[in-house]
Amino acid sequence: MSHELDIIPGTAWGCFTLPRPMCIAGPCSAESEEQVMETARGLAAFGIHVFRAGIWKPRTHPGSFEGVGVPGLKWLRKVKQELGMWVCTEVASEKHVLECIKYGVDMVWIGARTSANPFLMQEIADALEGTDMPVLVKNPVNPDIDLWIGALERLNRAGLRRLGVIHRGFSTSAPIPYRNDPGWKMAIELRTRYPRMAFFADPSHMAGDRKYLLELSQRAMDLGLDGLMVESHCNPDCALSDAKQQLTPRDLQTLLESLAIRESTSQDESYRDGIEALRARIDVIDDNLLNLLNDRMNVSRKIGEYKREHNVAILQAGRWESLLSSMEERAEALGISRDAIRAIMTAIHDESVRVQKL
Ligand code: PEP
Ligand code: MN
Repeated sequence: MSHELDIIPGTAWGCFTLPRPMCIAGPCSAESEEQVMETARGLAAFGIHVFRAGIWKPRTHPGSFEGVGVPGLKWLRKVKQELGMWVCTEVASEKHVLECIKYGVDMVWIGARTSANPFLMQEIADALEGTDMPVLVKNPVNPDIDLWIGALERLNRAGLRRLGVIHRGFSTSAPIPYRNDPGWKMAIELRTRYPRMAFFADPSHMAGDRKYLLELSQRAMDLGLDGLMVESHCNPDCALSDAKQQLTPRDLQTLLESLAIRESTSQDESYRDGIEALRARIDVIDDNLLNLLNDRMNVSRKIGEYKREHNVAILQAGRWESLLSSMEERAEALGISRDAIRAIMTAIHDESVRVQKL
């Protein structure tokens, strides 16, 4: 079933003045009026136009800093009035939405724990109905694309059309260097389904540590995403939440300036001729691959018949393991990763076993 969304692209929202990447920046949490104003001034100084700050913070353990609540909205209003920035914060309930509307917050985002919860998403959508507030929906903590799309649909059905997404990675128990598994595959899938929808990456929550911010931001740009939401604090080491992953405004400026931004396509004629020729070669190679796979499956079928005649089991684990490790070794020598060849050969082997049984 296709789930259509009627949305307005981010470039028409009126808040992103810089060319790609569109950037939203600000502290994980609003902590004090001074911290909010100093950070916002540092960001405005190099052209950041959209300021983020968490007012209500979803924390794992009770007793951690859970945000300053409503007084922080007055500081956001001051950022808006004094610096002319757009301000945005995270909402997770009807009460949060109503307070944001009251204090003139320009845009809200839905956190990863909330987008995973259809009850809360419906409550928020109902509270936003009748406004034309732009809303950014972070991916749910678990990698479930339908839950993510469902959250967007609820908002869209409530009449909200300035909708965008923020990819911030997924919870995992796997030993990875980052705080969350980037799981870019799902970002690509969503981007392909809704190419007009404003698409941000949040390298801060993906990384968990500022040393990985550049590589993750670059990856988001290489995948053609529109923008970044990055946590920035005037004094990161003293931050009350997410201290390790925040950057000073100056360091954020350096990061943005060191990104290589490639266009999704080029109008240059020789580029187009060159890419067409290379794509034509790829098409021929893919054809050959398909024919080779067909030959391989035909041989597999014969092997299946042969084994049946001789009453031998289909799966010969020893042979499969030795074939796989030899392929991995040869692939590596060619510069193809062991993981990639293992995944490809496993898929081919699964299909061979299936046709042998026919
Ligand atoms: C945040 O943006 O501060 C936040 C809590 O993010 P997430 O919902 O991605 O964990
Ligand atoms: Mn944070």
